[in-house]
This record gives sequence, C-alpha cells and structure tokens, in this order.
Amino acid sequence: MENLDGKSALVTGAASGIGAAIARRLAAAGARVTMADIADQTGRELAAELGAQARYQHLDVGSEEDWAQCVADTCAAQNGLDILVNNAGIALLADIFSTSLSDWENIMRVNATGCFLGCRFGLEAMREQGGAIVNISSIAAMAGLAPYPAYSASKGAVRSLTKSIAAACRDGGIPVRCNSVHPGAIDTPMTRGIRIEGGDDIENAIVAGMGKPEDVAAMVAFLVSEDARFINGAEMLVDGTLCMG
Ligand code: NAP
Repeated sequence: MENLDGKSALVTGAASGIGAAIARRLAAAGARVTMADIADQTGRELAAELGAQARYQHLDVGSEEDWAQCVADTCAAQNGLDILVNNAGIALLADIFSTSLSDWENIMRVNATGCFLGCRFGLEAMREQGGAIVNISSIAAMAGLAPYPAYSASKGAVRSLTKSIAAACRDGGIPVRCNSVHPGAIDTPMTRGIRIEGGDDIENAIVAGMGKPEDVAAMVAFLVSEDARFINGAEMLVDGTLCMG
C-alpha cells in the first residue's frame, strides 16, 4: 500500500463505482479525501462510512462556480490540495445517427469540460506546492468504440488534455504530474445500465471478464504516490487486454 499520509485529495464522481473505490483506496493509504459528486445523499453516506478522513461536497463538474467553491473549500478543510482525480463521467450508448446535438453537448460538458475545469482549478491550487492529477479516460479514447461516438470523443479529449497539461507543467517548471487512466469494462452502475440496453461490446467484455473498481483505484493510488515521480503525461491501460481486441 502507498503512503499518502497527510496528503489532501479531491475525487470527483466519488459517490459511485470507480470514484468511490478511488476515494476508499486513497483514504486507506492515509490521505484526507473530499468526495465530490452530484449524487449528494449517496456521497454523504459513503463519506460518513470513511469517517474523519473524508468529507463530501456537492460538485457538478460542468459548473465553473461549483469548481471554484469546491477547490477553495477543499483547500481550507484539508490544508491545500495535493491530489486531484477527475473521475466523474457519463456514458451514452447511441450510434452516430441517433446521437442528437444535445446528447453530444451533454457528454462533452461532463466528460471533457468537467475534466478541463478540474485541471485548471486544481493546477491553480497546486502550482506552488506541487501535486498529482489523474484523469479517468477510457479505452474508448484509443479504440473509438462504434456504439459510443460522443463518449469516445469526450474521452479522447481527456487523453490529449492530460498530455498537454503534463507538457505545460514540464515546460513551466510546475511541480505537478498529470496522467490518464484508461479502464476497460469495469463492473459499476454505469456498465450495469448499459448491459440492460444490450450493448454488444460490453456483453463481449463481460464474457471475457470485467474488471473491478478496485483494479482502477490501485492504478490511481500508484500514480499519485511518490513511486510514480518519473511518470508524467502517460496513459495507463487497466483493461485486462480488452484494447488488444
Ligand atoms: P458511475 O458508477 O456511473 O459513477 C459516476 C459518478 O459520477 C456517479 O455518482 C454520477 O452521479 C457522477 N456524475 C455524473 N455526472 C456528474 C457531474 N456532472 N458532476 C459530478 N458528478 C457526476 O460510473 P463509473 O463506471 O464508476 O465511471 C467512473 C469513470 O470511469 C467515468 O469517467 C467513466 O467514463 C470511466 N470509465 C468507466 C468504465 C466502466 O466500465 N465502468 C470504463 C472506462 C472508463 P449520478 O449517478 O447521479 O449520475
């Protein structure tokens, strides 16, 4: 287990699935964790389960005002910010012909804009003291999944944004690392919803065996730890070979 004693972390989309597992893992490693989400009741209950090390805060990742408030409150409550995990995301199973403009804009708002705002506010808080940002992308950013055009595009944006931030930190002498994690099919409420819709690729993945939220959380915990100090701008697959086809 990594040693994150005394570190201050903020995890978005922390009321469910992968985000909840990441929050648990970071807290178990010693970090104080702000769990942020729009699912307020579940988020509060999960934070209460983690005890004094965790707090919950409402955050719609598409809202600039929410980000300003959340990062300010997190820094005040946890004495700064060392770790940011941009995990909140939504999926839409709809091919290009049945994806409306509002579907596209909604996916981009949460997955791409949400990550952009998080990086901007997070970097601002970390630029002097240093820190680590992990952005949760997807294998969709590499593979371009046919039934998920908007989702694939939004996760491609997360992948490229991550590299741009890593390069900017390197060039600007900012002691912040920024990496992306690309899960394959992970058993969470998100994929359970898709399964009901009957997506073929997800069904195939289920046959091959899905990963657990904890598999992704372990990668995130490594990336934010001192052991990963030379890893910056990297894209880490956690997919059980799914991306290999
Ligand atoms: P999940 O179980 O649906 O959890 C996502 C959480 O984010 C939910 O609590 C959701 O709240 C919240 N959320 C939605 N919109 C938000 C917003 N605007 N602001 C803040 N929070 C918001 O999904 P998951 O499977 O754990 O996915 C977590 C991340 O991993 C996502 O970025 C996803 O794209 C990525 N990912 C997942 C898989 C997979 O197979 N599960 C694979 C690759 C990548 P509500 O429930 O109220 O909507």
